[in-house]
Amino acid sequence: MLRVLHLLAEKGKLMQVWTIEATQSVLDAVRLMAEKHIGALPVMQGEQLIGIITERDYARKIILHGKSSADTQVQEIMTTEVLTVRPDDTVHFCMQMMTEKRFRHMPVMDHDKLIGMISIGDLVKAVIDEQQQTIAQLERYIAG
Ligand code: AMP
Repeated sequence: MLRVLHLLAEKGKLMQVWTIEATQSVLDAVRLMAEKHIGALPVMQGEQLIGIITERDYARKIILHGKSSADTQVQEIMTTEVLTVRPDDTVHFCMQMMTEKRFRHMPVMDHDKLIGMISIGDLVKAVIDEQQQTIAQLERYIAG
C-alpha cells in the first residue's frame, strides 16, 4: 500500500522544505511561493510548526479585503490549526483528509519534526503511477 514515505522518497531525499516565519510579511511569503513554484508554506517558530499559509489565504484574506501584503504579517492570515500527516500514513488516508477538509497541502511530521510537504498534486500523481503499474501488470498477464 502506497504511503507518504514513498512519496517523499520519490520527491528526493534532499528535497528542501521551504518555510516562513510568522512575523515575516505576506509579500515575503508570496514571493517565496512564486520563486519556488509552490502553493503553501509551513509557518515555523524555530523548529516548531505553528501554522500554514497558502495562495488561497492570500487571495481570500489579502486581495479580497484590499489589504496590503507588504504591511500584513504572515501570522495575521495563517491557519493555526494545522492538519499534518505522518510518513507511515497511506496516500488514501491523505486524499480523504484533503477532500474532507477542502485543502490541498499537508506538512509531514516525523514526531515533532517537519520532514516534508505533500500536495494534492503529489497524491494524484502517486495514484496514477500506481494504477498504470497495475494496468501494465494485467496486460502482461493477459498477453501470457
Ligand atoms: P489550500 O487548498 O491548501 O490552498 O488551503 C485552503 C485553506 O486551508 C487555507 O486557508 C489554508 O491555510 C488551509 N490549509 C491548507 N493546508 C492545511 C493543513 N494541512 N491544515 C490546516 N489548514 C490548511
